[in-house]
Amino acid sequence: MKFYNINNHKEIISFKQALKIGLGKNQGLFFPSFIPKIHLKNINEILDMDFINRSSYLLSLFIKDEISSKDLIKIVNKAFNFPLKLVNIKDNIFCLELFHGPTLSFKDFGVRFMSQILNYFTKQKKIIILTATSGDTGAAVAHAFYNINNIEVIILYPKNKISILQEKLFCTLGKNIKTIAVQGNFDDCQKLVKQSFEDTYLRNKVILNSANSINISRLIAQICYYFEAFAQISKKNRNNVIISIPCGNFGNLTAGLISKSMGLPVKKFIAATNSNDTVLRYLKSGIWKPKKTITTLSNAMDVSNPNNWPRILELFQINNWDLNKLSSQSISDCITEQSIIKLYHQYEYITEPHSAIAYYALYSKIKHEKEFGIFLGTAHPAKFQNYINKILKITIQLPIVLTNYMKKENLSYNFPNNFTYFKNFLIKNYI
Ligand SMILES: *Cc1c(COP(=O)(O)O)cnc(C)c1O
Repeated sequence: MKFYNINNHKEIISFKQALKIGLGKNQGLFFPSFIPKIHLKNINEILDMDFINRSSYLLSLFIKDEISSKDLIKIVNKAFNFPLKLVNIKDNIFCLELFHGPTLSFKDFGVRFMSQILNYFTKQKKIIILTATSGDTGAAVAHAFYNINNIEVIILYPKNKISILQEKLFCTLGKNIKTIAVQGNFDDCQKLVKQSFEDTYLRNKVILNSANSINISRLIAQICYYFEAFAQISKKNRNNVIISIPCGNFGNLTAGLISKSMGLPVKKFIAATNSNDTVLRYLKSGIWKPKKTITTLSNAMDVSNPNNWPRILELFQINNWDLNKLSSQSISDCITEQSIIKLYHQYEYITEPHSAIAYYALYSKIKHEKEFGIFLGTAHPAKFQNYINKILKITIQLPIVLTNYMKKENLSYNFPNNFTYFKNFLIKNYI
């Protein structure tokens, strides 16, 4: 299938090209030329397949003209080599735990698929992965691309705005992974990445690729776990599913909406955010007005100008869906913390701020017992060990992998929030 640029419908390219360039002209995001449909009567049959075979099948609906099913299965097998679990919290509320991958966040799904498929499509030329992170993307990208031939990785993140553990997890690797602490917030980092992509000189000299959630490969990979969630639900409950998603750049929600558009019978999505509530305000007023980014407990969601939003508008438009039906809620740090405490004391469930936001939004919107509520667990609580230990007065053990990274030296560079400075660094090191 082909993919088109949302900002310039004449730019139509293959999956391989979209994978490599990431962003199109005028900063346009790529979008599938059509959404493959699965007929309702075939859904249960597809849900009966195992996770790897089903995921390969779903992805093949988008890319089968560019990769054989045999190769795709191999790639999916390497990328999704960790479990995902639907855990019952209480009555009709479940958590889809997506954080059992190597860097303990759901980002492992998208990024590991991307690194495997990029490696498959680019054997000769050197590619530079340039990405901004508010925490978890950095770790997922660094680990997914570590030691992969011909791929250099540069990760920008806001200095002192991510947890030490998050930082250690991706800033200690070295080799083909370079990390830069920028004096600014996540939106500043994202801007430096965008400016690099727009820079004609750089574009002509090197192949730049952003592995952040605007890359179409990451997005389609994330469809797979929505189907898996349904596979783990009994048939009688499949018509009443409400899914609450902790949103930052809205990639996760976009993937969810694509699965619905493909035919997965999700009754309703809830877009849960922290105090960075641009989308909630937009849904109420119709005016897109990002404010200054606010730092919160759920730092991976500290985004005031979510970069996947144009894709969501596109999906609503092509499906003729009513944007008023998208439910959104903005949750304060105070309620986030209370939710973590409540989940622990009432249900013995240990969670972390991002997932807790999705839990609270679900809890406050679910209406009757017939509804089957799922909130997405996007990060492992151990990633926020100090904070969780403090508020729950417990000691959670770090998984061994994390303990080892904590002992290593941080290799990051410190940069001002300045494009020329950054560009000079790129020229010096890669051109
Ligand atoms: C990135 C991230 C999010 C936000 O996901 P988006 O796809 O950017 O909306 C939520 N929770 C965690 C733990 C994350 O790392």
